[in-house]
Amino acid sequence: MNPTYDFTGQVALVTGAGSGIGLATARQFARAGAAVVLADIDGALAAAHAKELVDAGLTATSVRCDVSNEEQVAAMVKTVVDTYGRLDMAFNSAGIIDPPAEIADVTADDYDRINNVNARGTWACMKYELRHMRTQGSGAVVNCSSISGLIGSAGRTSYHASKHAIIGLTTSAALEYAERGIRVNVVCPGTIDTPMVDALVEKGELDRTQAITKMPINRIAKADEVASVVLWLCSPGASFVVGVALPVDGGFVAQ
Ligand code: NAD
Repeated sequence: MNPTYDFTGQVALVTGAGSGIGLATARQFARAGAAVVLADIDGALAAAHAKELVDAGLTATSVRCDVSNEEQVAAMVKTVVDTYGRLDMAFNSAGIIDPPAEIADVTADDYDRINNVNARGTWACMKYELRHMRTQGSGAVVNCSSISGLIGSAGRTSYHASKHAIIGLTTSAALEYAERGIRVNVVCPGTIDTPMVDALVEKGELDRTQAITKMPINRIAKADEVASVVLWLCSPGASFVVGVALPVDGGFVAQ
């Protein structure tokens, strides 16, 4: 799916790389020649996927990191730089979703749990990634919001708030670093076929057929279809793309 990018000599960090969109992106970065660090709260999963890439002759390593823990995030970025000497591209994909509930019933703990991973986690990752990139004088960061960052949805206030926050973090950081050779953008995926969506379907929180019907393109996407957009955003082909919240949604928000 990605025959054209050449990231040889460059280093990519992907959070949430144990599964779904993060994993697909880590694999694409590695196949495009980058040295990839797969980070995930499930360290064993990240390590197993890094090993698959190494066994295939590619360059990869893994680190366990809970992105809601700032110390662990700082250590994650240090591991990347200690291992490969630089950090050129970062995709902050780690995220969680909560069970549906109307706001009047959401506990503060549940609200904090979602936002600590999705919003604060993205903030912490950017903080340490950009701290290194500004010294380096180059880099590309892509965050992972959602169509949930662009619209509202009854029953999902905490998740939607976290995904809206990621867009605000992205556009503001993009402006801070645009002049310094660093581009920051954010992808807003629609419904993507990943273990997160499988779990929602299993719990009866999402009807797959209904989700497909809601998509103008009349299907949901493969994780690789988001990954290829992330690689493009990190590539020289996107050299003038700064602070963009890009829907990758089969036309959902165009409706
Ligand atoms: P997934 O559940 O398949 O993968 C998420 C990965 O993140 C898992 O490996 C998990 O272990 C890891 N993770 C969870 N909490 C973490 C933490 N605190 N620190 C580090 N890693 C952590 O999910 P996915 O569908 O691939 O979702 C990836 C991102 O895409 C998320 O931010 C999600 O909100 C977003 N997204 C997904 C969809 C979709 O339809 N799948 C749509 C829009 C946005």
